[in-house]
Amino acid sequence: MKYFSIILLIASITMLTSFKPAIQTGPFDDYPVYSGNDLGVQYSPAETIFKVWAPKASTVKLRLYNAGNGGEAISTADMQQAGNGVWQLIIKQDLKNKYYTFQVMQDGKWLQERPDIYARAVGINGNRGMVVDLSSTNPANWRDDKKPPFKEATDAIIYETHIRDISIDPNSGIANKGKFLGLTETGTKSPDGEATGLDHLKELGVTHVHLLPAFDFNSVDETKPQANQYNWGYDPLNYNVPEGSYSTDPYDGNVRIKEFKQMVQALHKNGQRVILDVVYNHTSDINNSNFSQFAPGYFYRQNPDGSYSNATGCGNEVASERAMVRKFMIESVVYWAKEYHLDGFRFDLMGVHDIETMNQISEALHKIDPTIIIYGEGWTAGNSPMPETLRAVKKNASKLNHIAVFSDDIRDGIKGGWGDLKEKGFVSGGDGKTESVKFGIVASTPNNQINYKAVNYSNLPWAAEPFQTITYVSCHDDNTLFDRLKISNPNATEADLIKMDKLANAIVLTSQGIAFLHSGAEMLRTKQGVANSYNSPDSINQIDWSRKTKYKAVFEYYKGLIALRKNHPAFRMPSTAMIQANLKFIDSGNPNLIVYQISDNANGDSWKNILVILNGNTTSQPVNLPAGKWTLAADENTIKEDGIKTIDGSNLEIPATTAYILYAN
Ligand code: CA
Repeated sequence: MKYFSIILLIASITMLTSFKPAIQTGPFDDYPVYSGNDLGVQYSPAETIFKVWAPKASTVKLRLYNAGNGGEAISTADMQQAGNGVWQLIIKQDLKNKYYTFQVMQDGKWLQERPDIYARAVGINGNRGMVVDLSSTNPANWRDDKKPPFKEATDAIIYETHIRDISIDPNSGIANKGKFLGLTETGTKSPDGEATGLDHLKELGVTHVHLLPAFDFNSVDETKPQANQYNWGYDPLNYNVPEGSYSTDPYDGNVRIKEFKQMVQALHKNGQRVILDVVYNHTSDINNSNFSQFAPGYFYRQNPDGSYSNATGCGNEVASERAMVRKFMIESVVYWAKEYHLDGFRFDLMGVHDIETMNQISEALHKIDPTIIIYGEGWTAGNSPMPETLRAVKKNASKLNHIAVFSDDIRDGIKGGWGDLKEKGFVSGGDGKTESVKFGIVASTPNNQINYKAVNYSNLPWAAEPFQTITYVSCHDDNTLFDRLKISNPNATEADLIKMDKLANAIVLTSQGIAFLHSGAEMLRTKQGVANSYNSPDSINQIDWSRKTKYKAVFEYYKGLIALRKNHPAFRMPSTAMIQANLKFIDSGNPNLIVYQISDNANGDSWKNILVILNGNTTSQPVNLPAGKWTLAADENTIKEDGIKTIDGSNLEIPATTAYILYAN
C-alpha cells in the first residue's frame, strides 16, 4: 500500500434496480447474490470506487498503471470484503485515465490479471481497464442528441451492416475507412458520383442501422491496424466497451468511447436509429474470459456430468438464468442504451438465453425508452442443458414481451432452405414454398388462411403479434441473397437472377412484421460465394460501391419499395387483430402465385384497397382482379405510388418472377 488509502465501505446494499434474482442450481446454490447496481468502477474527481463480485476469492488485488499495456504497476492494493461476495476499494484521489487490473486468488491459486466484467473503458486489446470520466467522452452537443421519431416496432426497416464493410472499399470516398468515424462523414461519394456511407443510408430511406458486434471483441489485434484484419466480432471480450480496432486510437481508452458516441450522434442526425448486435450467449473462450477470473464456472452452463455445455457451437454457453449473470446482462444493455443512446439490441443466439432473463431485459430497456427494439435469433447452435420450454427460442416467441425473433420460415420459403444450397425457393419457381411465404406475409401470427401443415419449419403460428417477427430473406450469415440465388439457379441469366432478387425483397418489404435488409442487397451484394465470411478479407466482405452504379435500377427499385412501405402503413399493421381483419388471401388457382388484398384503409392507409400479386413462376401468369378500379403502383421495373397506369378490365397478365402492387380508392 504505497500509493493510496483504503476506506472500507460499510456494506449498505440498496435495491436500486428492478432486478429479480433467479433460482440457482447445482454447484452454485450457495453463491451469494449482490443486488446493488454499482459493480465496476465509479469515478469522481474526489474518489474512485472499485467493486467486484468474486464470491469464492480469498484475496483480490487491484493494480494501477499509467498505460493500458506495458510498464510496472504504480501501485498494488488488497481489496476488502463488503458482503454478498463483493470486494471493494475506495481511493481518495483523482484517478482519471489511470489504467487498472484486478487479480483474484481462489483455492490457493492466482487467477489472471484482468479488468472487471463491468469495465467501461479499456486500453489496447482490452487487457486493462481504464478509470474513465464518462462525461469527458461526450462529443459536442451530445446532450442535444435526438433520436429520429419512431413509434411502432413494426414501422422499422432495419439495415444490417458492419463498421468495416460499409466504408473499407477504396472507392467508398470515406476518409475514416473501417472506423466508427466512417459513419460520421456526410457528402461522401464513389468515383461514379454515387452517395456512399451516411448519405447512402439516407437516400435508401431505412429507419434503423443494425451494427454487427462493435463492443470489444478478441479476434482483431488492435496493435496492428495496418494488418487489415477482419472479423464479424462474435467473440466478446469486454462487454461494456466499444471495439478498439474501430477507433482511431485504441491505446487511449477515451477515444473509442467518444468516437462510438459521435457515430450514434451522426446516424441520429442523418435520420437513422442505431441497433447493436450483442453476444451474451458465449465468450471468446472459457478459461481466459473475464468472467472466469472472478467466479470460475459460475457464468457458464454445465452438463450433468460437470463438463461445459456448448449450445452456441463456440465452446461455451453463458448461464443467463443465474442471478449474477442475469443481472450483468440487464445492466450491460441498460448501460449501452443510456450512455450511448442506443435504440435497439439484436441478441445473437437468443435461444441460448432463458425467457425470464430476456423479459427482464425488455422491461428494463422499455422503462428507459418504450421504442427500443429488441430481437434475436430464436434458436441455438447445439443442445443445451436448459430445457427448451425455458429458452427464448422461436417456438416460445409469444412468451417474449415485445421481443422479436427472425423468421427463418419466410426467409427459406422465399429463397430455399439453408441446409441445401441448391434448393429453389418461391422466387425461383421452387415448389411447395407458397404456404411458408404466406405464413411470413402475416408475420407468423395466427391466421386461419394458412395451411400450417405446409409451412417449412413451423406447424403453429409462433408469434402472437406482428412485432414479434423479423421478416427477412438474408443477413450477414450464409451467402448473400444474390449469391444464393446464383448457386441454386445455375442456369438462370443475370437478368433472371435480378428479377428473383427484386421479388425476394419486394415480398419482405410488403409483408407484415419488422422488415430487415442485409446491407448491400440493394446493389446485389456478392461475397463471391463465401457463406461463413466471419474472418474473410475485406475483398470478400466489403460493400463494393461500384455495384451501386452497375445495378442502379435495382437500387432504385429497393429505394422505391422502402418508400412505399414507409408511406403505406397497411404493410406494417401493429396487431394481429388488424391483420386478421384486413388482409385476405385470394385463391389464384396457381400454386406459385400469391394474391392478397389489404382492405379498408388498413392501419390508416391512404389507399383504400391494396392488391399484392407475387408471381413465383418462371412464366407469366394471368390473374383475375377483384372488382374495383385498380391502379398499378409497382411492376417488374418501377415503383410509382401515384400510379404507373390504371388497369382496364378484370384480367391482368403478371410477368414471370414479379411482384405487382395495385390499389383502388
Ligand atoms: Ca478488441
